[in-house]
Amino acid sequence: MEDVKDLVIIGSGIAGLTAAVYSARAGLKPIVLTGSDDGGQLLLTTAVENFPGFPDGIQGPQLIQRTKDQAKKFGAVFLGKNATDCRIRDSLFEIKADEEKIISKAVIIATGASVKWLGIQSEQGYIGRGVSSCATCDAYFFKDKKTVVVGGGDSACEDALVLAKFAAKVTIIHRRDAFRASKIMQDRVLENKKINVIWDSVVEEILGNESKVTGIQIKNVKTNKTSELACDGVFMAIGHNPNTEIFKGKINLNEEGFIVTDKRGRTNIPGAFAAGDVQDPIYKQAVTAAGSGCQAALEAGRYLAGLPEKRG
Ligand code: NAP
Repeated sequence: MEDVKDLVIIGSGIAGLTAAVYSARAGLKPIVLTGSDDGGQLLLTTAVENFPGFPDGIQGPQLIQRTKDQAKKFGAVFLGKNATDCRIRDSLFEIKADEEKIISKAVIIATGASVKWLGIQSEQGYIGRGVSSCATCDAYFFKDKKTVVVGGGDSACEDALVLAKFAAKVTIIHRRDAFRASKIMQDRVLENKKINVIWDSVVEEILGNESKVTGIQIKNVKTNKTSELACDGVFMAIGHNPNTEIFKGKINLNEEGFIVTDKRGRTNIPGAFAAGDVQDPIYKQAVTAAGSGCQAALEAGRYLAGLPEKRG
């Protein structure tokens, strides 16, 4: 007979981990597939200052580790595997986890989102040789060097501030004339003497020699004028794309590829729920991801118990 699990949670960012805490505590013995990005985006961040309950902030990796410990304490089982396929048959989910096949009655998709790149040819060739998507990971290598951050959101501002602790100079290149970032992050950036901003501009090319980045070519989108800027490192902070490749054609996605859920975390497929950045094109906060993980776990519990639909 097939070994059918109750619940598989795909992803181990803060959404998946919160779903694991709730569902494990409810006795559902969830299997968590951690994926290759075990821990999700918070692992790449520094201080999280807006997660309730931490007035002095908490380091992203610490928040993840503590939530993972909490889920394990209640009986969640973690598998360091990648979900590479998900088939839906006879109201069951057949999940390919690397070489293993796991069958489950319910699934919570918390696969998060991955870094968006500019998509220019010169970019990919210089990844690891001056082009990076993680200032927290790589800032140290740019001590006393000239660096560039591309983007205008909170990530770009945070990256610029992290880099400013090491680099000689940080230039933010933003395609508009105003930041999208929160006021507090904008203020910190604009007050930092090491950081300057080039507005209304896009990066057209990464310049370099055989071994590393030496600069960028930028274009002012208002004047169409191009120019070159010498630098040693270019950090991309232009947002993220949802990780939904394996669900295409099986579960409803919106036109940007995010999983469509109702306000209770339910997808169009009974038994399939989604939480965190994979279904959130708007808020993308650690606390909203955690909240949606809680909702998905509660709804999965109701589904598995065969409880009647709650109104609302
Ligand atoms: P985001 O808010 O989506 O910002 C992406 C930025 O990149 C925008 O300024 C956008 O420009 C620009 N951009 C997008 N595509 C581009 C392209 N192809 N070429 C050039 N520029 C491009 O993403 P994020 O900054 O990663 O933030 C995601 C979420 O995480 C947000 O909700 C944010 O508040 C949160 N977050 C919070 C913190 C914090 O509080 N410390 C830190 C990091 C992230 P436009 O503005 O013109 O669209």
